[in-house]
Amino acid sequence: MNPSDLEFDLRHIWHPYTSMTHPLPTYPVVSAAGVELELSDGRRLIDGMSSWWAAIHGYNHPVLNEAAKSQIDRMSHVMFGGITHPPAIELCQQLVAMTPATLECVFLADSGSVAVEVALKMALQYWQAKGEKRHRFLTLRHGYHGDTFGAMSVCDPDNSMHNLYKGYLPNHLFADAPQSRFEGEWQPEDITSFRQLLLQHHNEIAAVILEPIVQGAGGMRIYHPEYLRQVRKLCDEYQILLIADEIATGFGRTGKLFACEHAQIEPDILCLGKALTGGYMTLSATLTTRHVAETISQGEAGCFMHGPTFMGNPLACAVASANLKLLSDSQWQPRIQSIEAQLKVELLPLKSHTTVKDVRVLGAIGVVEMKQPVDMASLQRRFVQHGVWIRPFGRLIYLMPPYITQSEQLSKLTNAINDVII
Ligand code: PMP
Repeated sequence: MNPSDLEFDLRHIWHPYTSMTHPLPTYPVVSAAGVELELSDGRRLIDGMSSWWAAIHGYNHPVLNEAAKSQIDRMSHVMFGGITHPPAIELCQQLVAMTPATLECVFLADSGSVAVEVALKMALQYWQAKGEKRHRFLTLRHGYHGDTFGAMSVCDPDNSMHNLYKGYLPNHLFADAPQSRFEGEWQPEDITSFRQLLLQHHNEIAAVILEPIVQGAGGMRIYHPEYLRQVRKLCDEYQILLIADEIATGFGRTGKLFACEHAQIEPDILCLGKALTGGYMTLSATLTTRHVAETISQGEAGCFMHGPTFMGNPLACAVASANLKLLSDSQWQPRIQSIEAQLKVELLPLKSHTTVKDVRVLGAIGVVEMKQPVDMASLQRRFVQHGVWIRPFGRLIYLMPPYITQSEQLSKLTNAINDVII
């Protein structure tokens, strides 16, 4: 790649969460195949990130390529208002079949954040239709649900977004995040804060929203399924809707198809995204029950008030549909189990390092939490020198590799972490 192109990038193009005055370095990737990213100088990096949870089958997959190409030759896009098409129908049939039986009605949207906006709006319109004023959401500290305003308002209140947008964000309710570890003992006092907030505010709460089992961008915390069971029970008791944000955890990542299955609970509204298209393009889905959908439809507006321009984009739906077929035809469960077993063997011993605070593994997720924030730019450079793509943030160095990652490739990722933290 021409050095002047990189100069242009630095000077003119925003990257996620970066400064325009002190941008972090970016690495030019010119192609990707399988689990490897190819840099413009020909170096190949083993990808430990699945492009932020999305590329579960790896890059440049022949089946997904073919799905995109054949759909392009038919039509890339057509409006969804007043029109339907086979890719959307096929995809929604698959989604309805693979999620809990009660989740029957699917809303297709553009991104994870929009799926969350849609879920929040569904809950608000649901209560409006029932003639009740309920405008608050109950959620958990350390949560992350996206970058749009509604989604931001239910993200962890202390991670600066709330301070930055004070006065603009609605004031929701934040229960203490669960402390009981996934494989540890359940501590009954974990649910106290959540229960108390529900008790005090249940008449104002439209819904509870949370990330089941794994709190992702808010700290990569992996918590005890009993917390989720208790949340479901309390929501039932107070007849409050439960929104599960499985945008990161969905489609096998935690070892179950959906993380809610670890607790054997079902949400009233489910948000999906990221791995939905196997990392090919942006698409999300919000599913809900017929009861919620019908109640909304009987409300004042007579319909659900959302309809993005690119809703149900045929190209994205065709790829998503092929992606879900690939997933269900694959041996994903044993694959994830073997990735989990290897991550445990190769990462858990890092706990003994003096600089490491904690190590945790679930499914195809491995997290090394350092005691101090890491120097992202220098660590990133060292990872690239090791031939791997791992992007740490804050105190966290973590892996969520594509499911097709082979044992030697995974070892290369864990060895690189081992080398940089010494
Ligand atoms: N919810 C969760 C749990 C997420 O991890 C993310 C993305 N990191 C989002 C929502 C937002 O998705 P998107 O970036 O596609 O808007």
